[in-house]
Amino acid sequence: MQKTAYRQTEQSDGMLSGRMPVNKSIESNNGHPLIPVGISACLLGQEVRFNGGHKRSRYCLEVLKDCFSYEPFCPEVAIGLGIPRQPIRLVGKAEQPEALGTDDPDLNVTEPLLESGRGFAARHPHLCGYILMKGSPSCGMERVKVYHPNGHPDGAGSGLFARALMEAMPWLPVEEEARLNDPVLRENFILRVFTLHCWKQQVAPAPSFHKIQQFHARHKYTLMAHTYQGYRELGRYLAQAHDMPLEQLMPEYLQRLMDFLKLKAGRKSHTNTLLHMMGYLKKSIDSECKQELLEVIEQYRQGDVHLVVPLTLLRHYLKRHGSEYINEQVYLDPYPHQLGLRNYI
Ligand code: SF4
Repeated sequence: MQKTAYRQTEQSDGMLSGRMPVNKSIESNNGHPLIPVGISACLLGQEVRFNGGHKRSRYCLEVLKDCFSYEPFCPEVAIGLGIPRQPIRLVGKAEQPEALGTDDPDLNVTEPLLESGRGFAARHPHLCGYILMKGSPSCGMERVKVYHPNGHPDGAGSGLFARALMEAMPWLPVEEEARLNDPVLRENFILRVFTLHCWKQQVAPAPSFHKIQQFHARHKYTLMAHTYQGYRELGRYLAQAHDMPLEQLMPEYLQRLMDFLKLKAGRKSHTNTLLHMMGYLKKSIDSECKQELLEVIEQYRQGDVHLVVPLTLLRHYLKRHGSEYINEQVYLDPYPHQLGLRNYI
C-alpha cells in the first residue's frame, strides 16, 4: 500500500487545508505510476457541500486510488461561497444558464464559476482525467437541471465549472462518478486516462514525428476496438502529416484520438479487433488451437463470456508466437488487470 501525505492547500484553491490525503509516490502497488486525476472534492469525503456534507465515493477511494493520484477541488469553496452556504442552481437557457442562489436570486456566481474552471485548467495542464460529481450546478458534466426564472425545471445542461474545464481542455477524459457504475463507461474512462498518461510520458516531453508514429502504432488496435472508421482516418491523417509543424500536429492528433476513444467499444468492434489480432497467429498455431480461439471469440460475441476470456487466450498464444509489434499493442494490456475492468464488459 502506498504512503500518503497530507497536501497543504489553500482555502482559496477550493480544498480544505491539510485535510486530503494525496499519494505522493509516483508508483502504485500494482507497478504502474500513479496518474494525476482531478476530482470533485466532496467525492473524496471532504465536507465541502453547501450543507457541510460530502459524497464520499467508495469506488474512487478504495479502488481507483491504487491507480490515480487525486487532485481534489471544490469550485464553490474556491470562489469563496463558504461552508455551509446557500445552495445555487442553474437558471435560464440550457446552453448558457446562470448560476444563481436558490433562496436569493440576487446571488449570481456565473462568472466566478466559469473563471474558476478556466483558471483550474490553466494551473493543471498535467492532469490526465477528471472525475465530477453528478447533478451539481458547478461540477455536473451533463443533465444538470436548469430552471426557468419562475422556478420550474426547464431543461438540462452542464455545471459551470465543469463546462469551462471541458472547454479549456477538450482532450481531457472527464466522467461523472455515478456513471462509473456502468462497466462500459467505466472501462472507457479509465482507458482514456491511461492513454493520455501514456502520451504525456512517451511523446509530450520530447516530441517528434517518429515518437507520435510509434505511439500511434502501439495504440492501433485500441483505436480499432472503439471505431474502425476512426482507426483508418487517424492512420491516414498521420501518414500525410510528415511536414506538419509539431505545434500543430500534436494537439490535433491528440484531440482526434481522444474523441475517437470516447466512442464506446462494443462486442462487435472488440470481436473484429480480436479477429484482426488473431491474424498474426495464422501461420504459427495449429488448426485445433485456432478453432479453440475462434470458439471463445464467438462466445464473447454472443455475450456468453466477458472480454477477459478471449483476450486471455489470445494473449497466451501471442506471447509464444506473436511478433514484437503485436505484443506491444496497448490493447492487450491497457491498464492494471487488478482493476478487473474486462471482467465486466
Ligand atoms: S459538487 Fe463540486 S461544488 Fe459541489 S461540493 Fe462537490 S466539489 Fe464542491
